[in-house]
Amino acid sequence: MDHCMGGGARGTIPGMEDRTVHGRRPNGIYVPRFRNVATAHPDFLRGYGFQGGADREGWTRGENLPGFGAEFKRTLRTPAPWRFSFYGFGECLPRPTNYVELDPDTKDAWGIPALRIHCEWSDNERKLLKDMSVSAAEMLEAAGAKEVEPFVDDNAPGLTIHEMGTARMGRDPKTSVLNAWNQCHDVKNLFVTDGACMTSSACQNPSITYMALTARAVAHAVEQMKRHEL
Ligand SMILES: Cc1cc2nc3c(=O)[nH]c(=O)nc-3n(C[C@H](O)[C@H](O)[C@H](O)COP(=O)(O)OP(=O)(O)OC[C@H]3O[C@@H](n4cnc5c(N)ncnc54)[C@H](O)[C@@H]3O)c2cc1C
Repeated sequence: MDHCMGGGARGTIPGMEDRTVHGRRPNGIYVPRFRNVATAHPDFLRGYGFQGGADREGWTRGENLPGFGAEFKRTLRTPAPWRFSFYGFGECLPRPTNYVELDPDTKDAWGIPALRIHCEWSDNERKLLKDMSVSAAEMLEAAGAKEVEPFVDDNAPGLTIHEMGTARMGRDPKTSVLNAWNQCHDVKNLFVTDGACMTSSACQNPSITYMALTARAVAHAVEQMKRHEL
């Protein structure tokens, strides 16, 4: 799994034209998940959170504009309007069709088989991305933004760099790799404490959870060692 990312909306915020970004950089925002929390959405499972914020484009927007010379430079000295954008991060559901395997032929420089990854979005993730663009545009309109542009970027799985679920946690060694302490069912002195253990991806940034799982797994390993069980 990877978080499905790339649905959202952007718009301009009128006013504050006498303010520049320098020394007044607006903070980022986070909107926690609100879909499928209190009521069930008819079209999709789970939900997404928004990250985003405001900024004001300065002269660097000239990198993507046609033009040259003194007049062009003068245009760029006036900052663009303030913008605000919402960018969604959604839950990827676990599915048996998304899996990893060892490549039978390709090996790395140390002779270890390369990992072959099979991963694609399902309709549920595509619906989340579409809904991100609709709800983000609604929020911007409600906040008084102008020139609101909803968007859905066609990002492939992997782009969010929140890979998870390659050695999932579970009680049954037949259907899972790790036990409740991130300890490998088959190899007792092997603990895997990153995103591999996740059984679904949720929609939040994952690293703090991995750190908490790691601390918990280490505390458990220490206790097992003290009891000479490891
Ligand atoms: C650009 C980018 C932005 C990100 N932004 C966020 C964010 O904002 N919020 C968030 O929550 N997550 C974010 N992530 C994801 C986050 O970085 C990862 O989830 C997190 O780093 C995973 O931690 P880890 O300790 O499990 O693995 P890693 O941080 O990848 O650490 C693994 C370590 O093992 C070492 N290693 C690998 N193989 C061997 C070996 N054979 N022998 C010895 N050492 C080895 C590696 O060198 C590395 O130091 C981002 C990731 C990227 C790439």
